[in-house]
Parts: sequence; C-alpha cells; structure tokens
Amino acid sequence: MSQTPATCPHCGEPVDTAVDPGGGEHQSYIEDCAVCCRPMSITAWYDPDANEFVVEASPEV
Ligand SMILES: [Zn+2]
Repeated sequence: MSQTPATCPHCGEPVDTAVDPGGGEHQSYIEDCAVCCRPMSITAWYDPDANEFVVEASPEV
C-alpha cells in the first residue's frame, strides 16, 4: 500500500488515500473522507512516467 495525496471534493481538505499497487494499474473505489466523512469516488491509475499512482477524487453520486 502507498499513501497517495488527494483533495476531498466536498470540503477541499487534503486526504491520504491508500492505493493498493497490487490492485491493478487502474482502480476506482469509494472512500469516506477522513475530515468530513462524506463518501467520495476515488479513481487511481498508474503513471509510468512519474512511477507512481495518480489519484482523482470526485463526489459520490
Ligand atoms: Zn471531506
């Protein structure tokens, strides 16, 4: 697991999401914000140029 920073789409606070590198190069899952506890949809994909996962958080609908 690696901690990847993202920004909560609800409260705008930075949150750490734990991406499982063994889960594949493209993942999406729902995670509750640690600050405001609202669910957010996390999309994570591997960036081979940066050699790390990129994470995007959007509001859960
Ligand atoms: Zn939040």
